[in-house]
Amino acid sequence: MQRFQSILQFKKVSCKNCYKCVRNCPVKAIRVHDHQARIIESQCIYCEKCILVCPQDAKEEQNMIPAICNAMENKTQVIASLHPAYLARFGVTGINGIREAMKKLGFADAADAAEGASLMISQYRALFAEQKEPGIMISSACPVIVQLVKKHYPHLLGNLVQSASMMQFHASYLKKKYPKAEIVYVSPCISAMSELRDSGNEVDYVITLEELVQWMQKEGISITEKEPEQIAYRSREIAIADGLTDLLGAVKGIRRLSVSGMEQCREVLEEQAKKYMVCPFEMSLDVSNWADAVICDYNYVFDPQAHIKRFFSESGKEEYLFLIDEAHNLVER
Ligand code: SF4
Ligand code: SF4
Repeated sequence: MQRFQSILQFKKVSCKNCYKCVRNCPVKAIRVHDHQARIIESQCIYCEKCILVCPQDAKEEQNMIPAICNAMENKTQVIASLHPAYLARFGVTGINGIREAMKKLGFADAADAAEGASLMISQYRALFAEQKEPGIMISSACPVIVQLVKKHYPHLLGNLVQSASMMQFHASYLKKKYPKAEIVYVSPCISAMSELRDSGNEVDYVITLEELVQWMQKEGISITEKEPEQIAYRSREIAIADGLTDLLGAVKGIRRLSVSGMEQCREVLEEQAKKYMVCPFEMSLDVSNWADAVICDYNYVFDPQAHIKRFFSESGKEEYLFLIDEAHNLVER
């Protein structure tokens, strides 16, 4: 299984007077120092907004293709699990043409992760049936939303649906079928890489669809679909907006709300957060991660016992500018 430090970072470029990524990051997870933007991964939710707006195309993401090639050269059986977004990306009706192309790349086989989506839907239905108390359940199907809750709304962690994702269900299914294989998940975005760190995960590598396209182009491999596929998994709808809620269908006693896009998701999360009794101090600490300026007592900066660890711990290497009012009072402390 791949172990790695950083999923997403910026290359060394001159960021002077740009700040487009900083302005567009929905969770303020970017700092610029010495004309170089840096992503603070402990805050980043891997939405890739910053990458889309960067005029210098400064993306530097985790690249697992060399490790996959290495496994193939060492005769390891490598199986691909493809997120159903591949249908739209390649304009095909099914997996057959892609399976052949991926075999030419060195994969032993390729399968549609919609198979994992069917298992995940069954799990959701079982969890809904067990739900006795009224409450809110937040889908954990999208890794970006899971990261948003974990890193920015931790008090809602208990509301995340306790189910493995489509990717994880499919990897477990494939590992039963091919016990010695290593599994590569092909995702429409990099956020799935964040799931590699989850306990119980059986995926070995994650690459994006765009990386797969570039890999095929480099090897001169194209996709030929001999004939349209007749059998279509309904669970492929997971790849479209509202797909999950449609697939779940009507469940007695459950009202569903489908939201898309970061703004809508945050509106809903914040509305739910207000229903909880949240400690104002802890909440202000959480909010301080998003703030450009913090007004606080001297102790939170200068007292080694009381300083705010999230900013001043040994691992915190950020540069801050302090405006100290009535500094003569410091001597008294
Ligand atoms: S990926 Fe999204 S959350 Fe992470 S730094 Fe970029 S814009 Fe911010
Ligand atoms: S958008 Fe790109 S060029 Fe601009 S500050 Fe961010 S990383 Fe630098």
